[in-house]
Amino acid sequence: MSEIPKAYEPGKIELKWYDSWLKQGYFTPEIDPNRKPFVIIMPPTNVTGELHLGHALTATLEDIMVRWHRMKGEPTLWLPGTDHAGIATQVVVERQLARRGQTKDEIGREKFIELTWEWANKSRGSIRRQHQLLGASCDWTRERFTLDEGPNRAVWTAFVRLYDKGLVYRGERMINWCPRCQTALSDLEVEHKDIIGHLYYVRYPLTRGDGFVTVATTRPETFLGDTAVAVNPHDKRYKNLIGKSVSLPIIDKEIPIVGDEAVDTSFGTGALKITPAHDPTDLEVAQRHNLPLVDIMNVDATMNENAGPYQGLERFACRDRVLADLEGKNLLEKIEPYSHSVGHCCRCQTMIEPKVSLQWFVRTQPLAKAAIEVVKDGRIKIIPEHFTKIYLDWMENIRDWCISRQLWWGHRIPVWYCQNCGKLMVSVDEPSTCAYCGSRQIIQDPDVLDTWFSSALWPHSTLGWPEDSDDLRYFYPSSVMETAYDILFFWVARMIMMGLEDTGQIPFHTVYLHGLIRDESGEKMSKLRGNVTDPREAISKYGVDALRFALTTGTSPGNDTNVGKGKLESSRNFVNKLWNATRFILQSLDVEKLGAQTTGLKPQRIEDYWIDSQLNRLVKGVTELMEKFQFGEAEQQIYDFVWSKFCDWYIEIAKIRLRSQLAPSPYPFLASTLEKSLRLLHPFMPFVTEELWQSLKMRLLPFAGNDTAMMPPSIMIAPYPIAEDKAFAPEAERVMDSVIEIVRSIRNVRAQYKVKPSKWIAARVYTGGLLSKLSAEANMIETLAKARPVTILGRQKRESTKDKELVLVLKEAEVVVPLAGMVDRLAEEQRLIRESEEIKGRITQLEARLRGEAFLEKAPAQVVEKEKQKLAMLEDKLRRLHQELSQLNSSSADS
Ligand SMILES: [Zn+2]
Ligand SMILES: [Zn+2]
Repeated sequence: MSEIPKAYEPGKIELKWYDSWLKQGYFTPEIDPNRKPFVIIMPPTNVTGELHLGHALTATLEDIMVRWHRMKGEPTLWLPGTDHAGIATQVVVERQLARRGQTKDEIGREKFIELTWEWANKSRGSIRRQHQLLGASCDWTRERFTLDEGPNRAVWTAFVRLYDKGLVYRGERMINWCPRCQTALSDLEVEHKDIIGHLYYVRYPLTRGDGFVTVATTRPETFLGDTAVAVNPHDKRYKNLIGKSVSLPIIDKEIPIVGDEAVDTSFGTGALKITPAHDPTDLEVAQRHNLPLVDIMNVDATMNENAGPYQGLERFACRDRVLADLEGKNLLEKIEPYSHSVGHCCRCQTMIEPKVSLQWFVRTQPLAKAAIEVVKDGRIKIIPEHFTKIYLDWMENIRDWCISRQLWWGHRIPVWYCQNCGKLMVSVDEPSTCAYCGSRQIIQDPDVLDTWFSSALWPHSTLGWPEDSDDLRYFYPSSVMETAYDILFFWVARMIMMGLEDTGQIPFHTVYLHGLIRDESGEKMSKLRGNVTDPREAISKYGVDALRFALTTGTSPGNDTNVGKGKLESSRNFVNKLWNATRFILQSLDVEKLGAQTTGLKPQRIEDYWIDSQLNRLVKGVTELMEKFQFGEAEQQIYDFVWSKFCDWYIEIAKIRLRSQLAPSPYPFLASTLEKSLRLLHPFMPFVTEELWQSLKMRLLPFAGNDTAMMPPSIMIAPYPIAEDKAFAPEAERVMDSVIEIVRSIRNVRAQYKVKPSKWIAARVYTGGLLSKLSAEANMIETLAKARPVTILGRQKRESTKDKELVLVLKEAEVVVPLAGMVDRLAEEQRLIRESEEIKGRITQLEARLRGEAFLEKAPAQVVEKEKQKLAMLEDKLRRLHQELSQLNSSSADS
């Protein structure tokens, strides 16, 4: 009879099983119009890099859900994919070019895109392989990439439709500009950092008469773009100046002083310089007063022709020169330190330059209205619930979304400009001539769309939209969108807006937000700290199942989780425990020998009914937890059952039955309990459960009769256990709970009195309602507790004795352990007295030392403190010894 290897070697079975599942086509669902499918569209992984633990957590949580629903018999689709990650990928490839001494402009757009495709394809292959390594059971036949033809057409279609409805427009607006990436960024792509800078007080001379107005600014170089000074009309200091004008220093340009209620009189001097082309608040003031816009910077943040003598200088070099010049003219009144929040590019960390620029925008408010509705009325549920409020707050204050990027890598904007008549065309199909004048002189908009524009369409673009495909009709809307909480706005909110807009339906029913992964001490993982766990290293050291288990135990929706060596090791120990338990059962499960003596897989004795009932309770609990997305807790409960109940108690009890040759054999039932537990565990630990299940199945089939649970060729398509009312056996649980409690209490006594493992001790058990039931299990109690004889008696039989005894009061029984047989009471008493005397001696010495003035004066404070602590510890020990001594003397049946 074949045996499973002695030690579990994950590397040997993981690839074998993944390939087999893939070959059998288990990951690809069949469309069955009579059944509701379960669908997860995987958040597309950025092509920019290797998978980290965050991806592994996403993949594991989704795989748990997907495997669970598949085992429940639902047609299950998990659609994988990757994201071209526009700006991030472009930055990576630009850096590679820079290492070769080249720039993207030198090699040109076409060649650059070709290089980026090469890089992206390589990266996509490695992302796919890593997901497979993790056991992700996604349907690779439906894998998508955001730049694939289908999703690309979806992007253009969505853009054109929004444009036709007036929801996409081109306009000059204030945007966030990254001078390094040389592109516009959306508000979400800007990271705000607190910076200690300076507040510069600059004097602007009045054009008539003497005097000047002093303005305060953090960016003095922007004075070159000032078109007014604004003051609050209620500000007595400046009221009379409204309507007059000042002259900009150095360049001698006259600008008006305007009154605007929005000016904060408490900031700086209360007089505000207005640079409308480079500040969002200033732009609003300018619009109210019809002030002109003067852009003073080039795209790389050097000063342009509007900067007069400063043209060509880089922005910070310009600042230094401006300050020196102002000082020279005595126009710099003072400089104060000033801490403020400054935006930085989330991709390259360059300081953002706010800038008015001609860009494409989505008018988001009308879209947000519908997206608010579906969350408010519960059609989309966000888990955990408290993110609902955060979502609604953001949506209610949403601003127009800048979607054009001055990049090369991404979806080109489907807009063409006619060089002849100047009109523009917006179209899904590329035009060859101008639709208005027939000219062939048309050029496409050079910009690409924000990456999040294509990811916003992901749930429907991956299923074939805008075509009315079978997949779209059957699998859309999807069931769960599972992702990290930090991209709720970047992505989830936009998917809801665009899904509703494009399809008229919600994109998913539930949003499950998971937390971030931190190291064992709760610190954020970062390369700088050196506390990053590489998933591939963890896999080769602990195996995939242990990694998955470590990542997800203790997780709950929306909360961060800690992962490190300890958790990985304990997960691996659990896998080994399972392996060894199965191995033990398989060794003893000899079909030929047992055939005659077994009645099959049904419970026969009380412990069988007990474990069966406990397993049934577990199934019920796990199912409820899974429905509430509490996967971490579900996993913990399975772990506790397998380790503590099944291995520590049930298998030990079964061994007694085997040793005493009591027919019928416990093994077929033991094996079938394990088999069911493996099915319960499969979504969490797919590989080891498949390997063990296959071995168990071979041995169990002869006993299975018409039990179909074991018929499928793989555990991943076997049914997930369902709780059955008839399996509950409360009376068996009551008796076994009591047996376990009695055994535990006797074991504790043995440990407390350091009884040698080979020594048997006696015990009496007095019980009320369980007399006959416990009497029947006396042998079990004796063997497990190493106590003989164990006499089970009714409570009325309880008599007082003169012997020293320990009494343990339990839920349904009292256990009486005579001390006489257990320890040599006299010897024990002498040991305790001897130990107490010794401690007393040491206490006296220490006390004397601590009273000595010489010691207290000379010794450093921490030495004195240490000695005091030592004294406290000794005193505590003495107290405990006295307690033990008095317990020894007073313990008796009736005390
Ligand atoms: Zn940047
Ligand atoms: Zn034209």
